[in-house]
Amino acid sequence: MKAPLKILIVAALAVAVIAAVSLKRRNAPAESTPAITAATGTPDRVADAAPAVVAGLPKLVDLGADKCIPCKMMAPVLEELKKDYAGKLNVQFIDVWKNPDAGKVYGIEMIPTQIFVDAAGKELFRHVGFFGKDDILAKWRELGVDLAGGKPSAAIVLETPVAADTRPRDAVCFMCDGDVNPQTKVVVNGETEQRILCSPHCCFIYFSSLVGADPKGEEAKVSVTDWASGKLVAAASATYLYGMDAKGRPTIKAFGDKDSAVKEQQTNPGNLLVWDVLRSKELATRCAFCDRAAYPEDACVVKFGTTHGLGCCTHCSLGVAARVKQDIEVEAKDGLTGEPIRVKTLNGMVASMEPPTAIAWFGQKKNADGQWVSAGCFKQGFFVNEANLQKWLDARPAMTGRQITIAQALADKMMLSPEQIAKACKLGECK
Ligand SMILES: [Zn+2]
Ligand SMILES: [Zn+2]
Repeated sequence: MKAPLKILIVAALAVAVIAAVSLKRRNAPAESTPAITAATGTPDRVADAAPAVVAGLPKLVDLGADKCIPCKMMAPVLEELKKDYAGKLNVQFIDVWKNPDAGKVYGIEMIPTQIFVDAAGKELFRHVGFFGKDDILAKWRELGVDLAGGKPSAAIVLETPVAADTRPRDAVCFMCDGDVNPQTKVVVNGETEQRILCSPHCCFIYFSSLVGADPKGEEAKVSVTDWASGKLVAAASATYLYGMDAKGRPTIKAFGDKDSAVKEQQTNPGNLLVWDVLRSKELATRCAFCDRAAYPEDACVVKFGTTHGLGCCTHCSLGVAARVKQDIEVEAKDGLTGEPIRVKTLNGMVASMEPPTAIAWFGQKKNADGQWVSAGCFKQGFFVNEANLQKWLDARPAMTGRQITIAQALADKMMLSPEQIAKACKLGECK
C-alpha cells in the first residue's frame, strides 16, 4: 500500500482525554478482517518487544500506539493479564504507528482495538476503545473460552446484608435512606401511609420521582419541621432560610413564623424564601437521565455535544448516553474519597476510563417477586478501585448488591427502551 496512514485524533471537548484514535486508510483492502489462522497468525516481528507467543493458546491482540491516551491506559491491563494468565493466554501488543503494516494485517480502523483469537487461530471478537480487565475476562467467558487456572476476579456480591438495619422506620429517609435529622424532618401524609423524609431537598426529589401526580395536591400533604420549635407545620405556609454549608451544599431550614426565620438569619446567613420560590429553585436542576431534582454539588457532570448536564447518580450519568443517543463524557467522584473518575463513551461503549482500575457498585434489593432490582440512585457509586468500594461497604452493613464493571453499568443503560428510560427512577417504576 503506497498511501500513508492518515491519522485522525479525536479529542474530547473540554478535557484533554482522547477516546479512540481513528486510523483512516485510503486504500483499505476489500476484506478488512482477514482470517487469522495459527499458521498465518501475526508474525512476531510486528510486535513491540513481543513476548514468546505460545502455540495452541487463545490470544488477545491489542493494537495501539504508545502516544494515544486510551492505548496507554491498556498497558497495565495487558501486563496484569500477562501475569495472571501466563501459560493460559497469549497477550500481544502491537504498536501500529511504529509497525503500520500490522494494522493492515488486522484491518483495524481505530486504536486501541483488542482482537480475541481462539486457540485454533480463529478471530472471535474485536472491541474498539479502552477495555478493562474484568470486561476482557467476562468477554472470554461469554465467548466460551476457558481461562481457568488464572487468578479469578473476585467481584464483591452481597445478597444478604452483613448486618440488619435496626434503625426505627421513622428515623430513615424514604428517599435517600439516610438518618432523619429531627430538625429538618419532612412528613408526607399519603392516602394509606406516611412518608418520612430527611429534609426538604429529599422531599423535592420525592416530588420529581412521582408519576402523574398533581403537584398542588401533593404539596397539601406535606408538613415540615419548624426549626425553632421542632413542631410540624404546613409546608406551603412556612418560611425557609436557604443557606450553605461548609462544602457549598445548600441547607434549608423551615420556620412556622417569619420572625423566627429572621432571627436565625442574623446568626446563620441565607435567603428567606416562601414555599413557591423554594420549590422552583429546588426543581430547577434535574438529572439529565431520570429528571429527578439534584444538587450540582452532589451530581456527576455529563458532557455531550457542545453542552452538559447532570447525572443524579453515577449510573444515571451513564444513562445520559442512552437517553440523548450521543457519546458522552462523565466526570464522577469516588463514592468514598471523592477522587475523580472520568469515563468517555463511544457508540454506547466505554472508550476510555480514568483511572483504568475504576469499578462500579450496583446497589440492588429483592422485590416482592424475588427478583433483584435496582435499590435506587442513592445506593449506586463508582470507585477508583476495589479497596475503596470495600471500605465504603464496610460503613454500610445493610447494603445489598454487586460489584460490576463500569462498561457493564453502561451496557445495562444502553439496553433500555425509550419507554423504560421515561420510567427510570420513578417511584414504583424503577427496575
Ligand atoms: Zn433523604
Ligand atoms: Zn438520575
